[in-house]
Amino acid sequence: MNATTSRAMSLDEAISCLSDYDPKALPVSRVREIIERVVEPVEAIERVAIRSALGRVLAEDLISPIDVPSHDNSAMDGYAVRSADLAADAPTALRLVGTAVAGQPFEGRAGAGDTVRVMTGAVMPEGFDSVVIQEVVSLDGDRVMIPTGQEPGQNRRLRGEDLSRGKPALRAGKRLAPADLGLLASLGFAEVPVRRRLRVAFFSTGDELRSVGEALAAGEVYDSNRYTIHAMLTRLGVDVVDMGVVRDDPEALEHAVRVASESADAIISSGGVSVGEADFTKQVMDKLGDIAFWTIAMRPGRPMAFGRIGRASYFGLPGNPVAVMITFYFFAREALLRQMGAQVEPLPFVRARSLTAFRKRPGRTEYQRARLAHEPDGTMSVRSAGSQGSGVLRSMSEANCVVVLHHDQQAVAVGDLVDCIAFDGLI
Ligand code: AMP
Ligand code: MG
Repeated sequence: MNATTSRAMSLDEAISCLSDYDPKALPVSRVREIIERVVEPVEAIERVAIRSALGRVLAEDLISPIDVPSHDNSAMDGYAVRSADLAADAPTALRLVGTAVAGQPFEGRAGAGDTVRVMTGAVMPEGFDSVVIQEVVSLDGDRVMIPTGQEPGQNRRLRGEDLSRGKPALRAGKRLAPADLGLLASLGFAEVPVRRRLRVAFFSTGDELRSVGEALAAGEVYDSNRYTIHAMLTRLGVDVVDMGVVRDDPEALEHAVRVASESADAIISSGGVSVGEADFTKQVMDKLGDIAFWTIAMRPGRPMAFGRIGRASYFGLPGNPVAVMITFYFFAREALLRQMGAQVEPLPFVRARSLTAFRKRPGRTEYQRARLAHEPDGTMSVRSAGSQGSGVLRSMSEANCVVVLHHDQQAVAVGDLVDCIAFDGLI
């Protein structure tokens, strides 16, 4: 099965929802809206062992078949008591009648005035509601002295307090993280239903590009986008099809796009969409699919193409290495997650005090490579990571976040608070 078109809109429909559509000056928010309407999840589901499910997207709500924990149990090593037995104003002596450890419940009889030694995880004996930690009691033969000040219910974990039987433990659309795998195991699931992996084909375009290992002639550059895109896709957990470099030639481009669209759910290209090169790319794309060419009100980024070719979504990213990463993170990433069937949550902003002044004019979104740090007073600060040229990968490599200067935002002075998105967690 592949992506269906039941819910997805065509590109034209998605665009016609916007009253203020201008492909030559499209705000970032509009780009995201259009993309969101056009992409939709792959449908096929497969069952995988939980050990293989890391990063996969849960296809169905998973209902807990059991209560976790299955019994009330002790949260500490200590003594189980009935709080009704404890005097409020003086220590209480209780009679020790047995022991319970995790996996070995106390099976004797215990009642008023009794206590049972319990270890962490031990099932609470019937009728006992609290645990007194071992450090505060004193022992004298089978007498256990309980000091005053104990709270009813203390140090007891309730049956079902983690997960209750019949309730959803995990929702469809969850990208499974290590804690989720542990949670699934705690419910006894050996396998989980997940969406099939997304298949994403990508290629670089440009006559000036050489592959690593080759010698560079004057004016040539190494194809670095191939590596950043491969890495970003790998982190997303998709199957990657590397189609290499496509020369600036209509036939070569047409061939590459046709091949990619036959098997991929999404196609990503870099380069060839800037003003000087878009004309020939556009001719080819118009023949093959439903593609819009945009100038986005953003920096870095600006030129980008988006649409559909057959059943595949298409992202024509700009060629400049930093612009590739920024457009991938802020447009393609979310779209691919949707195609994977994931519930997409907005990336969290970190507010930080800027140690750098940023020039900014309202009317476009700017992404500044920067470094977030903790100040001695516990607040966060952020400092520019250096040259912001859209080809300067070094500052991208040295950055640990981007400062997002929003569409309507003005210049930033030193000391102003700004919104940052940390790279950890972005992908
Ligand atoms: P383009 O958008 O194709 O006009 O490319 C814009 C700039 O990005 C040019 O300086 C290209 O040489 C550079 N560029 C394009 N693709 C790549 C690539 N795959 N790796 C490194 N630089 C690239
Ligand atoms: Mg080019």
